[in-house]
Amino acid sequence: MKELGPDFYNITDLLSEEELLIQKTAHDFVQAEFMPIINEHYEKATFPMELAPKLGKLGFMGSALPEKSGGAGVSNVAYGLILHELERGDSGLRSFASVQGALVMYPIHSYGSDEQKAKWLPALGAGTKIGCFGLTEPNFGSNPGGMATTCNKEGDVWVINGSKIWITNGSVADVAVVWAKDNNGVIRGFLLEKGMDGFSAPLQHGKWSLRASVTSELVMDNVRVPDSAMLPNIEGLKGPLSCLTQARYGISWGMVGAAVDCYNTALEYSKDRKQFSKPIAGYQLTQAKLAEMITRITEGQLLVYRLGRLKDEGKMTFQQVAMAKRKNCAMARDIARTSREILGANGITEDYSPIRHMANIESVYTYEGTHEMHTLILGEAITGMAAFDS
Ligand SMILES: Cc1cc2nc3c(=O)[nH]c(=O)nc-3n(C[C@H](O)[C@H](O)[C@H](O)COP(=O)(O)OP(=O)(O)OC[C@H]3O[C@@H](n4cnc5c(N)ncnc54)[C@H](O)[C@@H]3O)c2cc1C
Repeated sequence: MKELGPDFYNITDLLSEEELLIQKTAHDFVQAEFMPIINEHYEKATFPMELAPKLGKLGFMGSALPEKSGGAGVSNVAYGLILHELERGDSGLRSFASVQGALVMYPIHSYGSDEQKAKWLPALGAGTKIGCFGLTEPNFGSNPGGMATTCNKEGDVWVINGSKIWITNGSVADVAVVWAKDNNGVIRGFLLEKGMDGFSAPLQHGKWSLRASVTSELVMDNVRVPDSAMLPNIEGLKGPLSCLTQARYGISWGMVGAAVDCYNTALEYSKDRKQFSKPIAGYQLTQAKLAEMITRITEGQLLVYRLGRLKDEGKMTFQQVAMAKRKNCAMARDIARTSREILGANGITEDYSPIRHMANIESVYTYEGTHEMHTLILGEAITGMAAFDS
């Protein structure tokens, strides 16, 4: 972390050699292979799909899962550092890896049959097959438990009807983890494959945020699948929620990466840019902004470092993840905006990353549980009273 800084509290000293090496590998990959093409993809609203097998080869898909499940078997802190570096590049890149690892490989690894694991996990881990996760619906975002997508058993087959929206990687996915409710109101997960009769994934257009990421609808019109397409080892809302906990963990790290990139950009700029008699970094008003930024980044780093070690010890709770996701999204959102401010007019151009991060963070702040929902999760954790209907 030190050379990839800032590391004001010497958190690097708490990381193993292996974790540091993994972070450096991720950093170098993003700088060499992704940064030269990000602006072009951002403008075109596309994702560089050719990077998927490279991410796989480096072990960046589901990195903390065991190797037999397509992962790399690294610590959760190392996994967090990978996502930190991917999101230092762009939230679209981190989202791509998060969905694949936390929202597709994780549920297949945790709840899938042996056949499902054998069919999908090696290819998903290698990045040669792509997955997506369909939970959100047009009328059910923050309360996914209300979902209207149904799965009804007719003889030997499940018939799935409904639609999902805002699905990252939907149109490019070979397999979709789709959550649906049966006749008894029980939520079940299904693995739907590209090209199945009645299943389509039209691309969503018109995003001004997270543009270097594919976002799609999923439409299920009488999709008929056998029992073997259902995740056999989970039922109920805890299935999708457990996946979200994994993804939110990664987002908490990723947001520090985005904030760090904004801060570094603003710091360098402020030391170079002269107005009146000296660099703008020499003025107290700029220093107040930089001091606030480094303090908030350090708080964010400490949160995710501790969260990662708790996860490695098997002690992490979803409420702790909610705190880190909530706090680090808000931190990065503010830092991106302040960094843009320090860059003046140049800050609104593609020549500098903060405005791209700033636009991206609006999505990250909202997806995987909005800021308000995480506030309510924390509220319930500390008072014992839920302020929302479950
Ligand atoms: C780019 C992008 C990618 C996404 N990728 C995926 C994906 O891959 N898979 C997937 O399933 N979903 C995905 N999502 C969807 C995302 O998870 C939802 O947008 C999110 O859960 C919020 O739902 P909503 O947009 O319907 O907002 P709503 O739930 O309608 O919320 C609107 C506002 O009301 C607030 N609100 C809601 N309930 C309460 C309450 N009880 N008290 C106070 N305030 C409340 C919210 O905090 C928010 O500010 C993605 C979204 C985006 C933008």
